[in-house]
Order: sequence, then structure tokens, then C-alpha cells
Amino acid sequence: MTTAEAGTVYLVGSGPGDPGLLTVKARDLLESADVVLHDRLPGPEILDLIPDGNAEDVGKRAHSDKRTSQAEINERLVAYATDGKSVVRLKGGDPFVFGRGGEEAEYLADHGVPFEVVPGVTSPVAAPGVAGIPVTHRDHASSVTFVTGHEDPTKPESSVDWAALAAAGGTIVVLMGVTRLPDYTAALRDAGMDPETPVALVERGTRPNQRVATGTLDTIVAARDEVGIEPPAVTVIGGVAGVREELEAFLR
Ligand code: SAH
Repeated sequence: MTTAEAGTVYLVGSGPGDPGLLTVKARDLLESADVVLHDRLPGPEILDLIPDGNAEDVGKRAHSDKRTSQAEINERLVAYATDGKSVVRLKGGDPFVFGRGGEEAEYLADHGVPFEVVPGVTSPVAAPGVAGIPVTHRDHASSVTFVTGHEDPTKPESSVDWAALAAAGGTIVVLMGVTRLPDYTAALRDAGMDPETPVALVERGTRPNQRVATGTLDTIVAARDEVGIEPPAVTVIGGVAGVREELEAFLR
């Protein structure tokens, strides 16, 4: 059993949402830490493990819709730890996959605060997995790339090189990519990717209200709209997305 230590910050992943996929270590830390800074992604069952009065929602500010700024979160982590408290910073999935955990770790190191990283089951692997989509497969893909869909691919400053991804030929998993789905599927087609390439969207993977939409580079936007897929969802692009069809009848 792990007990949260005074003056230490734990950067903890909560997994993709199913409380059964929280690690034992994460649960121990949630139950023993003096304070837990979290957002909404972990889901209600996991947040319920935090003893009354120890949880601090930094996803939204009290009495307002504004998110607590990253600078403010960083400062609070340091202030609590310096004050001798044991602190958990809880994030959905894995803390170092599009979770700004890296920035927090750097800030803690800069301020001389000891911290520990507690990995979590990450959604770009887990959400496709439970939907019957293996992110690698010997017949389809020997590499997988996680990218953010948050940026506008038509803008020159977009840092995701969609043309390079199209040329690489491996599986692409897009996070935060529901809204911009039309933009990056077009960018991939423009870069020469086969319009028949299988694509799947998995919303709230591992949760009871999980939903899946499937199609191709050409049809997935219509499928998204028909199913009504909303964030949080991952987009899987590549031959592996077609494997679901073979497995679906036996998936529980
Ligand atoms: N650190 C997280 C990712 C945070 S970014 C991780 O490792 O999973 C937030 C994005 O994660 C969402 O926009 C969505 O793309 C994805 N995501 C998180 N949980 C998900 C879930 N249960 N099902 C599908 N996508 C999920």
C-alpha cells in the first residue's frame, strides 16, 4: 500500500474513465493525500474516492465558467507541497499524454519540490482497444502516432505534419479531434492517403455510455454526425480501425 508523503506532489493518471482501470497505486494516493487537484475527465466514481474536503476542482473556477489557469495550478501545487501537504494532481488517462503533466513536472523541479509520476491507462490505446481496435497489428500497422486534433491543419503554424503522417503509413490516433475532424481528414486525403482508409471514432471509451462511429476517410464526418459523437473521443485512422468489424459480434 502506497501512502502519500508530506511535501510531495504526485502526478497521477486516472485512466480512461472505467473506475476498474484506475491503478491500485492511484487509488491509494487518492485516499491518503491531503489535497487532490483534479478536473472533470476522471469521472464521478473516481472522484468519489477522495475523502470529503480534500478535492479541489481546478477544471472550472467556482462561480464561473473560466478554467483555473495553468500558472495558477502550478503555483498551488508548489504552495501546498511547501506547506508540508501531500498533494495529488489527478489527470484523465496518463498524466504525460496531452495532459500538461510535463509542464507541471518542470515547474515542480524548478521550484525544488519532490514529485512522483504515477502512469495511467491512456485513452488513445484503451478507448480503441475496448472498441475492438488494436492500435498495432502485424497485418496493418507497425507504428502508432498520437496527435492533437486541436489545431487548425489549414494554418501554416499548425505543428502536426499531416502530410508526413499520411506518408508514414502507421496508425494515427487523434485526441481532442472531434470538431476538426473534417479539416484533418481532408488534409490526409490531400496528402495522398487512400480515401477508403478505415476510420473509427470512440467516444467515452471504457465508460458505460461509450459510443463508436466507423467509416472511411471519406465517410467518417457523416458517421460522426449521424451517431452524434461528442468529446471526449479519439479518432483512429488506419487499417487497424477495420479490425473492429471482424471482432464486433463477440465484443463484450
Ligand atoms: N491524458 C489523457 C488525454 C488528455 S487530452 C490520456 O492519457 O488519455 C483529452 C482527450 O483525451 C480528449 O479530447 C479525448 O480525445 C481523449 N480521451 C480521454 N478520455 C477518453 C475516453 N474515455 N474515450 C475517448 N477519448 C478519451
